[in-house]
Amino acid sequence: MTIAPILPASPGTFPISDYKPLGNEELSARIAAGRALLGKKLLILGHHYQQDEVIEHSDLRGDSYQLSQLAASSSECRTIIFCGVHFMAETADILANRPEKLAERNGERVNVILPDLAAGCSMADMAAIRQVEAAWDQLGEVIDTEKLIPVTYINSAATLKAFCGRHGGIVCTSSNAAAVIDWSFKRGNRVFFFPDQHLGRNTSLKMGITNDEMPVWDPYADDLGGNTEEAIKGSRVVLWKGHCSVHQMFRAEHVHQLRERHPGIKILVHPECPQEVNDLADISGSTSKIMKTVEAAPAGTKWAIGTELHLVNRLKKDHPDQEIYFLSPVVCMCATMYRIDLAHLAWSIENLIAGTVVNRIQVDPEIAKFSMIALERMLDVK
Ligand code: SF4
Repeated sequence: MTIAPILPASPGTFPISDYKPLGNEELSARIAAGRALLGKKLLILGHHYQQDEVIEHSDLRGDSYQLSQLAASSSECRTIIFCGVHFMAETADILANRPEKLAERNGERVNVILPDLAAGCSMADMAAIRQVEAAWDQLGEVIDTEKLIPVTYINSAATLKAFCGRHGGIVCTSSNAAAVIDWSFKRGNRVFFFPDQHLGRNTSLKMGITNDEMPVWDPYADDLGGNTEEAIKGSRVVLWKGHCSVHQMFRAEHVHQLRERHPGIKILVHPECPQEVNDLADISGSTSKIMKTVEAAPAGTKWAIGTELHLVNRLKKDHPDQEIYFLSPVVCMCATMYRIDLAHLAWSIENLIAGTVVNRIQVDPEIAKFSMIALERMLDVK
């Protein structure tokens, strides 16, 4: 099979099947050549959980929101290739193509590409907009939804962000969840937090809200998400029954085992981990807090880290003076993000050069407008 040249004379589309048999060395060379040709018009974004060989080709590395903001602030970029998952590419499209940005570029859009459309997020997929709307209607039969503030974690579909924008709600990240919940209680008397129950619970517990005040809404239960009327009326935070399939794998026994084997070890976890793990940890925080904590620690510090495997392995490599262990004995990696490999990246770039934007992520304008309202509220939270 012949591989199409990197610079075809006319627009065309190369199939992904042409790229899959190629070795990493050839793919890397072709990606580098494509990037050199496109220059600053192309930004490749690599999420912290992405595999190393893809990260090596990224212009910017970070968590989902940081990356989208950085890419949106570039005046030269016309295409973003997001080596992350679907909701991240949606957020990048919303931020890069919001009205003021479009005006700055005389209406020219930034194309956002997700190299493999199968790179979804298990957590985001646990809350579909029709389920959230149905839950909102049911809640409205028991409590006053005028005083219920919907909060969506940024790890959610744009439709959920738009729902929050329409209903006086807001978006949060794992860095600002407490400040966002605080903002919400200044505007209402209850929070409806989705899709990650663990981030909602771990954050709210630290704010003095008890588990009794946090019923869990199961979208597959028949009535009131599996709750009684009393539980909903007595609630302060209603948690959606969703989780991250990666962080859900960490267990209390992993913490005990590591502490037994390595006396003095510090346990550092992400708040998407279950409560039992967060309660036992020395430090719980967002991806950037985890990275900064390790960077600031003196040589010889021992860590067991409970977050995505690729990030932990990179921390190990970047800090050989510290002893870093993965908190779980089993592999916890973001399998969907891992779908984005060099073959998909090379395929996206060479098609772009040939004039074809593959796997374009473009959020519906109405959804984007209301999502932006919820995102802007988050930016105003200090
Ligand atoms: S690590 Fe979890 S929350 Fe993050 S993208 Fe993967 S499945 Fe989604």
